[in-house]
Amino acid sequence: MKTMLNSLMQLQSVDNKLQALEALKGDLPQQIQKLNDELQSLKDRHEAEKNSLVAAKKSKLHWEGELKVIEEKLNKYQEQLYAVTTNKEYDAITIEIDTAKEKKDESENKILELIEEEETRTEEEKNLAAQVETWQENLIEKEKELQEKIQATEKESLSYEDRRNKLSSSVQRNVLYQYERIRKGLGNSAVAEVRNYACDRCLSTIPPQRVVEIKMMNQLILCESCGRILVHKSENKLVTN
Ligand SMILES: [Zn+2]
Repeated sequence: MKTMLNSLMQLQSVDNKLQALEALKGDLPQQIQKLNDELQSLKDRHEAEKNSLVAAKKSKLHWEGELKVIEEKLNKYQEQLYAVTTNKEYDAITIEIDTAKEKKDESENKILELIEEEETRTEEEKNLAAQVETWQENLIEKEKELQEKIQATEKESLSYEDRRNKLSSSVQRNVLYQYERIRKGLGNSAVAEVRNYACDRCLSTIPPQRVVEIKMMNQLILCESCGRILVHKSENKLVTN
C-alpha cells in the first residue's frame, strides 16, 4: 500500500503538471470557436445578400423588357393615330395610348426602385465580403497561435502522459478508480497532505490517532471532510518527474 500511495502522490503531481500545460492554451480554443461561429453567420448573410442582388438584377431585366415592349406599342399607336379616319377609331386608340402610358410609368418606377436596390445591395455585399475576409484572417491568426502553443508544450505533455500511464499501471485498479473519481469530482485534486494535524486542502482537523495511521501509509485513508486521499509528505517526498 505504501508504494501505491507513493504512486498516487506522483500521479497527482503529474496531473497538476498536465493541468498547468493545458491552462497555457488559455481561452484560445473558446476564442476560436466563437470566431468560427461568427464567421459562419457572416458567410450566411453574405450568401443571402448575393442571392438578393442576383434577384434584383433579374427583376430589373424583366421590367426593362416590359418597358421596351410598351414603348414599341406606344410608337405603333402613335403611328396609327395619324392614319385614323373616324372619331370612334381615334377614341379607341387614345384609350390604348393612355393605358400604355400608365404601364410605362409603372415600369419606369419599378426600374428606378430596382436600380436603387441594386446599389444598396451591391454596397452591402461588398461590406459583408470584407467582413468575412477580416474574420477569416483573425481566425487563421488565432489558430496559428494555438498551434504554436500546442507545439511548444507537446513534447512536455507527451512525456507527462507517458509517466502517467506508467504510474497508473502500477496502482491497483480499484485504488486508481477511486483516485480518478475523487480527482474528477474535486477539480483535478485527489490527494491531500496532512500538515499540522489538518488536511492541507480543506483545512479540517485530523485527530492525532488518525494522523499516526496516515503516517504509517499502509491503508487508504480519506479525509472525512473533503474526501481526498490523505498522505503524509515529510516521510514520502513528492517526486515530480
Ligand atoms: Zn480534506
